[in-house]
Amino acid sequence: MKLLHNQHFEIPKEIMNVLETLEKSGFEAFIVGGCVRGLLTGFKPRDWDVTTNATPEEIIKLFPKTFYENTYGTVGVVNEDVSTRTEEGIPDETLRVVEVTPYRLESTYSDNRRPDAVTFSKNIEDDLKRRDFTINAIALSVKKAGTKLEEKIIDPHRGITDIEMKILRTVGKSEDRFGEDALRILRAVRISTETGFEIEKETEMGIRKCAPLLAKISKERIRDEFVKILMSKEPMKGIIMAQNMGILKYIVPELEMGIGVAQNQAHAFDVWTHLLKSLQHAADKNWSLEIRLSALLHDIGKPESKRQPADKKDPTFYGHEVIGARMTKKILENLKFSNKIIEKVTLLVRWHMFFSDTEQITLSAVRRMVANVGKENIWDLMNVRACDRIGTGRPKESPYRLRKYKSMIEEAMRDPISVTMLKIDGNKIIEVTKTPAGPKVGFILHALLEEVLDDPKLNTEEYLEEKAKKLITLSEEELKKLGKLGVAKKEALEEKEKEEIRKKHWVK
Ligand code: ATP
Ligand code: MG
Repeated sequence: MKLLHNQHFEIPKEIMNVLETLEKSGFEAFIVGGCVRGLLTGFKPRDWDVTTNATPEEIIKLFPKTFYENTYGTVGVVNEDVSTRTEEGIPDETLRVVEVTPYRLESTYSDNRRPDAVTFSKNIEDDLKRRDFTINAIALSVKKAGTKLEEKIIDPHRGITDIEMKILRTVGKSEDRFGEDALRILRAVRISTETGFEIEKETEMGIRKCAPLLAKISKERIRDEFVKILMSKEPMKGIIMAQNMGILKYIVPELEMGIGVAQNQAHAFDVWTHLLKSLQHAADKNWSLEIRLSALLHDIGKPESKRQPADKKDPTFYGHEVIGARMTKKILENLKFSNKIIEKVTLLVRWHMFFSDTEQITLSAVRRMVANVGKENIWDLMNVRACDRIGTGRPKESPYRLRKYKSMIEEAMRDPISVTMLKIDGNKIIEVTKTPAGPKVGFILHALLEEVLDDPKLNTEEYLEEKAKKLITLSEEELKKLGKLGVAKKEALEEKEKEEIRKKHWVK
Protein backbone atom coordinates (compact mmCIF):
# COMPACT_ATOMS: atom_id res chain seq x y z
CA MET A 1 0.00 0.00 0.00
CA LYS A 2 1.29 3.39 -0.92
CA LEU A 3 1.29 5.66 2.09
CA LEU A 4 0.54 9.32 2.06
CA HIS A 5 3.19 10.35 4.58
CA ASN A 6 5.36 12.13 2.05
CA GLN A 7 2.75 14.75 1.52
CA HIS A 8 1.20 17.00 4.11
CA PHE A 9 -1.75 15.66 6.00
CA GLU A 10 -4.98 17.49 5.96
CA ILE A 11 -5.79 18.08 9.59
CA PRO A 12 -9.17 19.72 10.22
CA LYS A 13 -9.08 23.09 11.90
CA GLU A 14 -10.93 21.76 14.95
CA ILE A 15 -8.19 19.19 15.58
CA MET A 16 -5.36 21.67 14.97
CA ASN A 17 -6.99 23.89 17.55
CA VAL A 18 -6.93 21.13 20.19
CA LEU A 19 -3.28 20.32 19.45
CA GLU A 20 -2.24 23.97 19.50
CA THR A 21 -4.10 24.78 22.70
CA LEU A 22 -2.30 21.96 24.50
CA GLU A 23 1.09 22.84 23.06
CA LYS A 24 0.79 26.54 23.80
CA SER A 25 0.46 25.62 27.45
CA GLY A 26 3.64 23.61 27.28
CA PHE A 27 2.15 20.13 26.87
CA GLU A 28 2.85 17.53 24.23
CA ALA A 29 -0.02 16.51 21.96
CA PHE A 30 -0.32 13.79 19.33
CA ILE A 31 -3.06 12.47 17.14
CA VAL A 32 -3.23 8.73 17.57
CA GLY A 33 -5.26 5.62 16.72
CA GLY A 34 -7.60 4.95 13.83
CA CYS A 35 -7.43 8.54 12.58
CA VAL A 36 -3.66 8.37 12.00
CA ARG A 37 -4.21 5.15 10.12
CA GLY A 38 -6.86 6.99 8.14
CA LEU A 39 -4.57 9.92 7.37
CA LEU A 40 -1.83 7.57 6.18
CA THR A 41 -4.09 5.51 3.95
CA GLY A 42 -6.47 8.18 2.72
CA PHE A 43 -9.59 6.91 4.48
CA LYS A 44 -11.83 9.32 6.29
CA PRO A 45 -11.42 8.82 10.05
CA ARG A 46 -14.52 7.88 12.04
CA ASP A 47 -13.34 9.85 15.06
CA TRP A 48 -10.30 11.74 16.26
CA ASP A 49 -8.21 10.74 19.25
CA VAL A 50 -5.60 12.96 20.80
CA THR A 51 -3.12 11.87 23.44
CA THR A 52 -1.15 14.19 25.71
CA ASN A 53 1.08 14.40 28.78
CA ALA A 54 -1.46 16.74 30.42
CA THR A 55 -3.61 15.30 33.21
CA PRO A 56 -7.42 15.24 32.89
CA GLU A 57 -7.67 18.26 35.23
CA GLU A 58 -5.15 20.19 33.13
CA ILE A 59 -7.00 19.32 29.92
CA ILE A 60 -10.35 20.42 31.34
CA LYS A 61 -8.89 23.80 32.36
CA LEU A 62 -7.69 24.54 28.83
CA PHE A 63 -10.97 24.17 26.93
CA PRO A 64 -14.26 26.04 27.32
CA LYS A 65 -16.49 22.98 27.05
CA THR A 66 -15.48 19.48 28.07
CA PHE A 67 -16.91 16.39 29.70
CA TYR A 68 -15.38 13.46 31.45
CA GLU A 69 -15.99 10.43 29.27
CA ASN A 70 -14.93 7.41 31.23
CA THR A 71 -12.75 6.14 33.97
CA TYR A 72 -9.65 6.02 31.78
CA GLY A 73 -8.96 9.73 32.02
CA THR A 74 -10.41 10.55 28.61
CA VAL A 75 -11.75 14.07 28.35
CA GLY A 76 -14.24 14.86 25.62
CA VAL A 77 -13.43 18.29 24.18
CA VAL A 78 -16.57 19.73 22.64
CA ASN A 79 -16.45 21.93 19.56
CA GLU A 80 -19.62 23.99 19.65
CA ASP A 81 -19.09 25.36 16.16
CA VAL A 82 -17.88 22.88 13.61
CA SER A 83 -16.90 24.80 10.50
CA THR A 84 -15.26 21.93 8.61
CA ARG A 85 -17.73 20.52 6.12
CA THR A 86 -18.16 17.01 4.82
CA GLU A 87 -18.30 16.19 1.13
CA GLU A 88 -22.06 16.62 1.38
CA GLY A 89 -21.52 20.17 2.61
CA ILE A 90 -22.81 19.69 6.15
CA PRO A 91 -20.81 20.24 9.39
CA ASP A 92 -18.54 17.24 9.98
CA GLU A 93 -20.03 15.67 13.11
CA THR A 94 -16.95 13.49 13.69
CA LEU A 95 -15.27 16.72 14.81
CA ARG A 96 -17.93 17.67 17.36
CA VAL A 97 -16.17 15.84 20.19
CA VAL A 98 -12.44 15.20 20.21
CA GLU A 99 -11.32 12.59 22.70
CA VAL A 100 -8.24 13.73 24.56
CA THR A 101 -6.59 11.07 26.71
CA PRO A 102 -3.55 11.45 28.95
CA TYR A 103 -0.62 9.14 28.21
CA ARG A 104 -1.34 5.92 30.00
CA LEU A 105 0.87 3.20 31.37
CA GLU A 106 -0.07 -0.40 30.79
CA SER A 107 -1.34 -1.99 33.97
CA THR A 108 -2.31 -5.50 35.06
CA TYR A 109 -5.65 -6.94 33.97
CA SER A 110 -7.04 -9.62 36.25
CA ASP A 111 -10.50 -9.90 34.71
CA ASN A 112 -9.55 -10.06 30.99
CA ARG A 113 -11.40 -6.86 30.27
CA ARG A 114 -10.37 -3.93 32.44
CA PRO A 115 -7.04 -2.67 33.75
CA ASP A 116 -6.80 -3.02 37.52
CA ALA A 117 -5.66 0.58 37.79
CA VAL A 118 -5.31 3.50 35.41
CA THR A 119 -1.92 5.14 35.74
CA PHE A 120 -0.85 8.13 33.73
CA SER A 121 2.57 8.54 32.25
CA LYS A 122 4.71 11.44 31.05
CA ASN A 123 6.04 9.45 28.13
CA ILE A 124 4.38 8.91 24.73
CA GLU A 125 6.25 5.63 24.25
CA ASP A 126 4.53 4.18 27.33
CA ASP A 127 1.19 5.13 25.89
CA LEU A 128 1.86 3.56 22.49
CA LYS A 129 2.98 0.34 24.19
CA ARG A 130 -0.44 -0.19 25.77
CA ARG A 131 -2.35 0.15 22.48
CA ASP A 132 -3.78 -2.89 20.74
CA PHE A 133 -2.30 -3.12 17.25
CA THR A 134 0.85 -1.73 15.68
CA ILE A 135 -1.18 0.14 13.06
CA ASN A 136 -3.08 1.82 15.90
CA ALA A 137 0.06 2.69 17.84
CA ILE A 138 1.41 5.45 15.61
CA ALA A 139 1.50 8.96 17.03
CA LEU A 140 1.53 12.03 14.83
CA SER A 141 2.34 15.53 15.94
CA VAL A 142 1.61 18.49 13.71
CA LYS A 143 2.86 21.96 14.54
CA LYS A 144 2.61 25.21 12.70
CA ALA A 145 6.05 26.73 12.19
CA GLY A 146 5.42 30.02 10.49
CA THR A 147 3.51 29.20 7.31
CA LYS A 148 4.83 25.66 7.26
CA LEU A 149 3.55 22.57 8.98
CA GLU A 150 6.03 20.55 10.97
CA GLU A 151 5.06 16.91 11.20
CA LYS A 152 6.59 14.26 13.42
CA ILE A 153 5.66 10.60 13.47
CA ILE A 154 6.45 8.33 16.42
CA ASP A 155 6.19 4.71 15.43
CA PRO A 156 8.15 2.47 17.80
CA HIS A 157 6.22 -0.68 16.83
CA ARG A 158 6.73 -0.28 13.10
CA GLY A 159 3.07 0.30 12.42
CA ILE A 160 3.83 2.11 9.19
CA THR A 161 5.56 -0.95 7.79
CA ASP A 162 2.53 -3.02 8.77
CA ILE A 163 0.19 -0.57 7.05
CA GLU A 164 2.34 -0.80 3.95
CA MET A 165 2.23 -4.57 4.06
CA LYS A 166 -1.45 -4.55 5.06
CA ILE A 167 -0.86 -6.57 8.17
CA LEU A 168 -2.71 -6.45 11.46
CA ARG A 169 -0.45 -7.38 14.35
CA THR A 170 -0.67 -6.85 18.10
CA VAL A 171 1.77 -4.63 19.92
CA GLY A 172 3.77 -7.21 21.84
CA LYS A 173 2.82 -10.84 22.49
CA SER A 174 -0.69 -11.41 21.23
CA GLU A 175 -1.73 -13.87 23.90
CA ASP A 176 -0.81 -11.41 26.62
CA ARG A 177 -2.55 -8.54 24.89
CA PHE A 178 -5.76 -10.49 24.24
CA GLY A 179 -5.63 -11.82 27.78
CA GLU A 180 -5.57 -8.27 29.13
CA ASP A 181 -8.64 -7.20 27.21
CA ALA A 182 -10.43 -9.87 25.24
CA LEU A 183 -12.39 -7.30 23.25
CA ARG A 184 -9.20 -6.79 21.25
CA ILE A 185 -9.90 -10.21 19.69
CA LEU A 186 -13.05 -8.89 18.14
CA ARG A 187 -11.44 -5.55 17.33
CA ALA A 188 -8.87 -7.49 15.32
CA VAL A 189 -11.55 -9.09 13.18
CA ARG A 190 -13.42 -5.80 12.85
CA ILE A 191 -10.37 -3.76 11.83
CA SER A 192 -9.23 -6.50 9.46
CA THR A 193 -12.72 -6.52 7.90
CA GLU A 194 -12.78 -2.74 7.53
CA THR A 195 -9.28 -2.38 6.15
CA GLY A 196 -8.84 -5.67 4.33
CA PHE A 197 -5.56 -6.13 6.23
CA GLU A 198 -4.52 -9.67 6.92
CA ILE A 199 -4.21 -10.83 10.51
CA GLU A 200 -0.61 -11.85 11.11
CA LYS A 201 0.05 -15.49 12.09
CA GLU A 202 1.10 -15.06 15.70
CA THR A 203 -1.78 -12.66 16.25
CA GLU A 204 -4.17 -15.17 14.73
CA MET A 205 -2.90 -17.91 17.01
CA GLY A 206 -3.52 -15.61 19.95
CA ILE A 207 -7.06 -15.00 18.77
CA ARG A 208 -7.81 -18.70 18.46
CA LYS A 209 -6.34 -19.47 21.83
CA CYS A 210 -7.98 -16.57 23.68
CA ALA A 211 -11.38 -16.69 21.91
CA PRO A 212 -13.22 -18.16 24.96
CA LEU A 213 -12.27 -15.08 26.97
CA LEU A 214 -14.79 -13.15 24.88
CA ALA A 215 -17.47 -14.72 27.08
CA LYS A 216 -16.37 -12.29 29.79
CA ILE A 217 -16.77 -9.17 27.68
CA SER A 218 -19.88 -7.03 28.04
CA LYS A 219 -22.52 -7.49 25.36
CA GLU A 220 -22.55 -3.77 24.65
CA ARG A 221 -18.89 -3.72 23.69
CA ILE A 222 -19.34 -6.85 21.58
CA ARG A 223 -22.37 -5.31 19.88
CA ASP A 224 -20.48 -2.14 18.95
CA GLU A 225 -17.76 -4.10 17.15
CA PHE A 226 -20.33 -6.42 15.54
CA VAL A 227 -22.19 -3.38 14.20
CA LYS A 228 -18.96 -2.03 12.71
CA ILE A 229 -18.40 -5.36 10.96
CA LEU A 230 -21.95 -5.29 9.59
CA MET A 231 -21.63 -1.67 8.45
CA SER A 232 -18.34 -2.33 6.65
CA LYS A 233 -18.16 -2.91 2.91
CA GLU A 234 -17.42 -6.62 3.29
CA PRO A 235 -19.47 -7.91 6.22
CA MET A 236 -19.70 -11.39 4.69
CA LYS A 237 -15.93 -11.79 4.84
CA GLY A 238 -15.93 -10.46 8.39
CA ILE A 239 -18.53 -12.94 9.67
CA ILE A 240 -16.78 -15.82 7.92
CA MET A 241 -13.49 -14.76 9.52
CA ALA A 242 -15.15 -14.56 12.94
CA GLN A 243 -16.59 -18.05 12.48
CA ASN A 244 -13.34 -19.44 11.22
CA MET A 245 -11.41 -18.08 14.19
CA GLY A 246 -13.90 -19.45 16.69
CA ILE A 247 -15.39 -16.18 17.88
CA LEU A 248 -18.79 -16.10 16.17
CA LYS A 249 -20.05 -18.28 19.03
CA TYR A 250 -19.61 -15.28 21.29
CA ILE A 251 -21.53 -12.95 19.02
CA VAL A 252 -24.43 -14.79 17.33
CA PRO A 253 -23.96 -18.52 17.97
CA GLU A 254 -27.32 -19.26 16.29
CA LEU A 255 -25.81 -18.44 12.90
CA GLU A 256 -23.56 -21.46 13.07
CA MET A 257 -26.60 -23.75 13.18
CA GLY A 258 -27.14 -22.94 9.51
CA ILE A 259 -23.79 -24.33 8.41
CA GLY A 260 -24.37 -27.31 6.11
CA VAL A 261 -28.17 -27.09 6.35
CA ALA A 262 -29.14 -27.78 2.76
CA GLN A 263 -32.35 -26.35 1.36
CA ASN A 264 -34.64 -27.22 -1.51
CA GLN A 265 -33.81 -27.21 -5.18
CA ALA A 266 -34.48 -23.50 -5.61
CA HIS A 267 -31.52 -22.79 -3.33
CA ALA A 268 -27.96 -23.25 -4.46
CA PHE A 269 -26.56 -22.59 -0.96
CA ASP A 270 -26.91 -23.86 2.57
CA VAL A 271 -28.72 -21.62 5.08
CA TRP A 272 -25.45 -20.15 6.40
CA THR A 273 -24.14 -19.10 2.99
CA HIS A 274 -27.55 -17.85 1.93
CA LEU A 275 -27.74 -15.57 4.97
CA LEU A 276 -24.23 -14.24 4.42
CA LYS A 277 -24.88 -13.51 0.76
CA SER A 278 -28.11 -11.76 1.68
CA LEU A 279 -26.21 -9.61 4.17
CA GLN A 280 -23.54 -8.85 1.59
CA HIS A 281 -26.17 -7.62 -0.84
CA ALA A 282 -27.47 -5.18 1.78
CA ALA A 283 -23.91 -3.89 2.20
CA ASP A 284 -23.37 -3.64 -1.56
CA LYS A 285 -26.47 -1.47 -1.68
CA ASN A 286 -25.28 0.55 1.30
CA TRP A 287 -28.53 -0.19 3.13
CA SER A 288 -29.21 0.52 6.80
CA LEU A 289 -28.15 -1.47 9.85
CA GLU A 290 -31.71 -2.71 10.32
CA ILE A 291 -31.83 -4.10 6.79
CA ARG A 292 -28.41 -5.70 7.20
CA LEU A 293 -29.48 -7.36 10.45
CA SER A 294 -32.74 -8.54 8.90
CA ALA A 295 -30.93 -9.89 5.85
CA LEU A 296 -28.48 -11.76 8.09
CA LEU A 297 -31.19 -13.19 10.33
CA HIS A 298 -34.20 -13.65 8.07
CA ASP A 299 -33.81 -17.44 7.79
CA ILE A 300 -32.29 -18.00 11.23
CA GLY A 301 -35.32 -20.18 12.10
CA LYS A 302 -34.72 -22.60 9.23
CA PRO A 303 -32.47 -25.14 10.95
CA GLU A 304 -34.97 -25.54 13.79
CA SER A 305 -38.00 -25.80 11.51
CA LYS A 306 -36.48 -28.18 8.97
CA ARG A 307 -38.52 -31.35 8.35
CA GLN A 308 -37.87 -34.10 5.83
CA PRO A 309 -41.09 -35.63 4.48
CA ALA A 310 -40.56 -39.35 3.90
CA ASP A 311 -42.14 -39.28 0.45
CA LYS A 312 -40.40 -36.17 -0.88
CA LYS A 313 -36.95 -35.11 -1.93
CA ASP A 314 -37.05 -31.59 -0.57
CA PRO A 315 -37.20 -30.69 3.10
CA THR A 316 -39.76 -28.20 4.37
CA PHE A 317 -39.27 -25.18 6.61
CA TYR A 318 -42.84 -24.39 7.64
CA GLY A 319 -43.13 -21.59 10.13
CA HIS A 320 -39.45 -20.72 9.98
CA GLU A 321 -40.31 -17.02 9.88
CA VAL A 322 -42.22 -17.31 13.16
CA ILE A 323 -39.45 -19.26 14.86
CA GLY A 324 -36.96 -16.89 13.23
CA ALA A 325 -38.68 -13.79 14.55
CA ARG A 326 -38.61 -15.23 18.06
CA MET A 327 -34.91 -16.10 17.74
CA THR A 328 -34.10 -12.71 16.26
CA LYS A 329 -35.68 -10.93 19.21
CA LYS A 330 -33.66 -13.04 21.62
CA ILE A 331 -30.39 -12.55 19.72
CA LEU A 332 -30.79 -8.78 19.53
CA GLU A 333 -31.91 -8.48 23.15
CA ASN A 334 -28.90 -10.45 24.24
CA LEU A 335 -26.65 -8.02 22.37
CA LYS A 336 -28.48 -5.09 24.01
CA PHE A 337 -29.68 -3.49 20.82
CA SER A 338 -32.19 -0.66 21.29
CA ASN A 339 -35.87 -1.56 21.47
CA LYS A 340 -36.45 0.34 18.26
CA ILE A 341 -33.99 -1.80 16.34
CA ILE A 342 -35.20 -5.01 17.98
CA GLU A 343 -38.83 -4.29 17.08
CA LYS A 344 -38.13 -3.37 13.51
CA VAL A 345 -35.79 -6.24 12.69
CA THR A 346 -38.06 -8.77 14.38
CA LEU A 347 -40.97 -7.48 12.32
CA LEU A 348 -39.04 -7.67 9.06
CA VAL A 349 -37.91 -11.23 9.81
CA ARG A 350 -41.46 -12.22 10.80
CA TRP A 351 -42.95 -11.01 7.52
CA HIS A 352 -40.15 -11.66 5.04
CA MET A 353 -42.13 -14.50 3.46
CA PHE A 354 -44.71 -13.10 1.16
CA PHE A 355 -46.28 -14.14 -2.06
CA SER A 356 -44.44 -12.41 -4.81
CA ASP A 357 -46.07 -13.32 -8.08
CA THR A 358 -47.57 -10.07 -9.30
CA GLU A 359 -49.67 -11.93 -11.84
CA GLN A 360 -51.50 -13.70 -9.05
CA ILE A 361 -51.27 -11.41 -6.08
CA THR A 362 -54.23 -9.20 -5.32
CA LEU A 363 -54.28 -5.66 -4.10
CA SER A 364 -55.90 -6.79 -0.86
CA ALA A 365 -53.01 -9.21 -0.23
CA VAL A 366 -50.62 -6.31 -0.66
CA ARG A 367 -52.78 -4.25 1.68
CA ARG A 368 -52.57 -6.97 4.33
CA MET A 369 -48.79 -6.98 3.94
CA VAL A 370 -48.65 -3.24 4.48
CA ALA A 371 -50.85 -3.64 7.55
CA ASN A 372 -48.57 -6.37 8.92
CA VAL A 373 -45.33 -4.42 8.82
CA GLY A 374 -46.69 -0.88 8.82
CA LYS A 375 -46.38 1.80 6.16
CA GLU A 376 -43.10 3.01 7.62
CA ASN A 377 -41.45 -0.40 7.11
CA ILE A 378 -42.85 -1.58 3.82
CA TRP A 379 -40.01 -0.32 1.62
CA ASP A 380 -37.45 -1.82 3.97
CA LEU A 381 -39.30 -5.11 3.71
CA MET A 382 -38.97 -4.87 -0.06
CA ASN A 383 -35.24 -4.37 0.35
CA VAL A 384 -34.93 -7.38 2.67
CA ARG A 385 -36.77 -9.34 0.01
CA ALA A 386 -34.24 -8.17 -2.59
CA CYS A 387 -31.41 -9.36 -0.29
CA ASP A 388 -33.15 -12.71 0.14
CA ARG A 389 -33.50 -13.14 -3.58
CA ILE A 390 -29.95 -12.17 -4.48
CA GLY A 391 -28.70 -14.32 -1.58
CA THR A 392 -30.41 -17.30 -3.16
CA GLY A 393 -28.20 -16.91 -6.19
CA ARG A 394 -31.24 -16.32 -8.36
CA PRO A 395 -31.05 -13.64 -10.99
CA LYS A 396 -32.44 -10.27 -10.14
CA GLU A 397 -36.16 -9.77 -9.98
CA SER A 398 -37.52 -9.00 -13.41
CA PRO A 399 -37.62 -5.24 -13.63
CA TYR A 400 -41.25 -5.28 -14.70
CA ARG A 401 -42.35 -7.39 -11.78
CA LEU A 402 -40.45 -5.23 -9.33
CA ARG A 403 -42.03 -2.08 -10.71
CA LYS A 404 -45.44 -3.72 -10.61
CA TYR A 405 -44.90 -4.65 -6.99
CA LYS A 406 -43.90 -1.13 -6.07
CA SER A 407 -46.86 0.26 -7.94
CA MET A 408 -49.23 -2.08 -6.10
CA ILE A 409 -47.77 -1.09 -2.75
CA GLU A 410 -48.25 2.56 -3.54
CA GLU A 411 -51.81 1.89 -4.65
CA ALA A 412 -52.52 -0.07 -1.51
CA MET A 413 -51.14 2.71 0.66
CA ARG A 414 -52.88 5.70 -0.79
CA ASP A 415 -55.80 7.11 1.14
CA PRO A 416 -58.99 6.44 -0.77
CA ILE A 417 -61.09 9.35 -1.88
CA SER A 418 -64.20 9.37 0.29
CA VAL A 419 -66.58 11.51 2.30
CA THR A 420 -64.28 11.07 5.31
CA MET A 421 -62.06 13.69 3.66
CA LEU A 422 -64.77 16.29 4.31
CA LYS A 423 -64.56 18.72 7.20
CA ILE A 424 -68.11 17.68 8.11
CA ASP A 425 -69.65 14.33 8.97
CA GLY A 426 -73.10 12.76 9.08
CA ASN A 427 -73.75 13.69 12.69
CA LYS A 428 -72.94 17.31 12.06
CA ILE A 429 -75.27 17.36 9.05
CA ILE A 430 -78.07 15.91 11.17
CA GLU A 431 -77.39 18.59 13.75
CA VAL A 432 -77.25 21.65 11.48
CA THR A 433 -80.07 20.60 9.12
CA LYS A 434 -82.25 19.30 11.97
CA THR A 435 -83.17 16.21 9.90
CA PRO A 436 -83.34 12.67 11.26
CA ALA A 437 -80.73 10.12 10.14
CA GLY A 438 -81.57 8.58 6.77
CA PRO A 439 -80.57 8.32 3.12
CA LYS A 440 -80.76 12.09 2.65
CA VAL A 441 -77.73 12.56 4.89
CA GLY A 442 -75.66 10.29 2.66
CA PHE A 443 -76.80 12.12 -0.46
CA ILE A 444 -75.83 15.45 1.07
CA LEU A 445 -72.38 14.15 2.02
CA HIS A 446 -71.74 13.00 -1.54
CA ALA A 447 -73.09 16.20 -3.01
CA LEU A 448 -70.68 18.12 -0.79
CA LEU A 449 -67.86 15.80 -1.82
CA GLU A 450 -68.54 16.59 -5.45
CA GLU A 451 -68.10 20.29 -4.82
CA VAL A 452 -64.98 19.85 -2.73
CA LEU A 453 -63.35 17.59 -5.33
CA ASP A 454 -63.87 20.36 -7.84
CA ASP A 455 -62.61 23.05 -5.52
CA PRO A 456 -60.69 21.84 -2.43
CA LYS A 457 -60.73 25.35 -0.97
CA LEU A 458 -64.40 24.86 -0.14
CA ASN A 459 -63.53 22.14 2.38
CA THR A 460 -64.14 24.23 5.50
CA GLU A 461 -66.59 23.57 8.34
CA GLU A 462 -68.19 26.94 7.81
CA TYR A 463 -68.88 26.57 4.12
CA LEU A 464 -70.04 22.95 4.34
CA GLU A 465 -72.48 23.65 7.18
CA GLU A 466 -74.02 26.56 5.28
CA LYS A 467 -74.20 24.50 2.10
CA ALA A 468 -75.81 21.56 3.94
CA LYS A 469 -78.52 23.90 5.23
CA LYS A 470 -79.28 24.92 1.65
CA LEU A 471 -79.22 21.37 0.29
CA ILE A 472 -81.72 20.11 2.84
CA THR A 473 -84.39 22.29 1.25
CA LEU A 474 -84.22 20.19 -1.95
CA SER A 475 -86.45 17.18 -2.51
CA GLU A 476 -85.15 13.67 -1.84
CA GLU A 477 -85.23 12.97 -5.56
CA GLU A 478 -83.10 15.99 -6.41
CA LEU A 479 -80.70 15.25 -3.59
CA LYS A 480 -80.31 11.69 -4.79
CA LYS A 481 -79.26 12.96 -8.21
CA LEU A 482 -76.66 15.29 -6.74
CA GLY A 483 -75.37 12.50 -4.50
CA LYS A 484 -74.94 10.19 -7.50
CA LEU A 485 -72.90 12.84 -9.27
CA GLY A 486 -70.60 12.92 -6.25
CA VAL A 487 -70.16 9.15 -6.27
CA ALA A 488 -69.39 9.15 -9.98
CA LYS A 489 -66.82 11.89 -9.65
CA LYS A 490 -65.19 10.09 -6.72
CA GLU A 491 -64.90 6.86 -8.69
CA ALA A 492 -63.52 8.55 -11.75
CA LEU A 493 -60.89 10.34 -9.69
CA GLU A 494 -59.97 7.16 -7.84
CA GLU A 495 -59.38 5.41 -11.13
CA LYS A 496 -57.34 8.32 -12.42
CA GLU A 497 -55.09 8.37 -9.36
CA LYS A 498 -54.46 4.65 -9.66
CA GLU A 499 -53.67 5.03 -13.31
CA GLU A 500 -51.20 7.75 -12.51
CA ILE A 501 -49.41 5.52 -10.01
CA ARG A 502 -49.19 2.77 -12.61
CA LYS A 503 -47.97 5.18 -15.22
CA LYS A 504 -45.31 6.46 -12.86
CA HIS A 505 -44.00 2.90 -12.45
CA TRP A 506 -44.41 2.04 -16.13
CA VAL A 507 -46.76 -0.85 -15.47
CA LYS A 508 -50.23 -1.84 -16.57
P1 ATP B 1 -12.35 3.54 14.86
O1 ATP B 1 -12.26 4.90 15.42
O2 ATP B 1 -12.36 3.48 13.40
O3 ATP B 1 -13.43 2.74 15.48
P2 ATP B 1 -9.92 3.11 16.31
O4 ATP B 1 -8.77 2.19 16.11
O5 ATP B 1 -9.61 4.57 16.31
O6 ATP B 1 -10.99 2.76 15.23
P3 ATP B 1 -11.08 3.64 18.86
O7 ATP B 1 -12.05 2.81 19.63
O8 ATP B 1 -11.46 4.98 18.39
O9 ATP B 1 -10.64 2.73 17.65
O10 ATP B 1 -9.76 3.72 19.73
C1 ATP B 1 -8.73 4.64 19.50
C2 ATP B 1 -7.38 4.00 19.77
O11 ATP B 1 -7.32 3.59 21.12
C3 ATP B 1 -7.10 2.74 18.98
O12 ATP B 1 -6.59 3.01 17.71
C4 ATP B 1 -6.11 2.05 19.84
O13 ATP B 1 -4.82 2.63 19.71
C5 ATP B 1 -6.61 2.36 21.23
N1 ATP B 1 -7.55 1.33 21.72
C6 ATP B 1 -8.89 1.31 21.62
N2 ATP B 1 -9.42 0.26 22.21
C7 ATP B 1 -8.38 -0.43 22.71
C8 ATP B 1 -8.27 -1.64 23.46
N3 ATP B 1 -9.35 -2.35 23.80
N4 ATP B 1 -7.03 -2.03 23.81
C9 ATP B 1 -5.94 -1.31 23.48
N5 ATP B 1 -5.97 -0.20 22.79
C10 ATP B 1 -7.18 0.25 22.40
MG1 MG C 1 -10.94 6.08 16.61
